[in-house]
Amino acid sequence: MKWEDIQGTIRTCRQCERFDGTIFASFRERWPEIPQPRPRSILFISEAPPQDGGFWTVQGQTSKQDDLREKLLALLKVSSRGPDHGLVSFRDSGYFLLQSFPRPLKISVGNIKVDDLKKLLQHPVETHLKDQITFLSPAAILALGRPASAALSMLFPDSSFAHTLSVVTFLSSRVGYFRSTASHSFQRHTSLQATDGSGGASGKATYPCLSVRPDH
Ligand SMILES: [Zn+2]
Repeated sequence: MKWEDIQGTIRTCRQCERFDGTIFASFRERWPEIPQPRPRSILFISEAPPQDGGFWTVQGQTSKQDDLREKLLALLKVSSRGPDHGLVSFRDSGYFLLQSFPRPLKISVGNIKVDDLKKLLQHPVETHLKDQITFLSPAAILALGRPASAALSMLFPDSSFAHTLSVVTFLSSRVGYFRSTASHSFQRHTSLQATDGSGGASGKATYPCLSVRPDH
C-alpha cells in the first residue's frame, strides 16, 4: 500500500467519522499533510493532533506554532528555522512522528482508565496506526505520553510498553538530546536515553522504547 493511500484511508474512514462530534472534533481548516516517512526512522508517537493541525501543519505566521514540534525539534537539536519550521530537516534526519488518534480529540483522555483508553484506541490503532508503522518499518519507537504508550502496548504486547504505561513524559524535563542506543542494533526491548547533553548522569532518564526488526 502506498503512503498516500494509507493517509487517504484515514481521512475518509467511515468508522472514525461516526464518532465525529462525540469522541473526535474536526480540524479547523484542513487535514495535516503528513509526508512520506524515510524508512528505518526513529518514530515518535504522540496522542492526537490539535484542531489547528498541530505537528505537521505549519501554523499561520502570526499564530503560535505547535508546542510539541517546537519542543521536540529543540530536544533533537534539529533547527526549526525556515518556512517549514524544520519539518523537512526533522524527517531527513531520520525522525518521524505519528499520532495515536488520527483526528483531534473532543474529550480528554489524560486521566481515563487504561482499559477505557484501550477501547477508544482499538480502532485507530488496529486500523490506522498499524498500517502506518508497518509502512514505516521504524528503527525504534518512542512513546510520548500515556495514550501513545497504551497504543504501542496494543501493537506490541510483549514489549516494555505493556508494562510501563505511566512513565513516559519527557517534554517538561531538562533533557538535552536523545542518544539512540536502539537505532543500529535492532534489539527488542531496548531503550532510547535522554541525557542532559553533558554525558553525565544528571537529568538522565530512560524511556520505554521499542526497536523493530523488519524481518520479525
Ligand atoms: Zn478509522
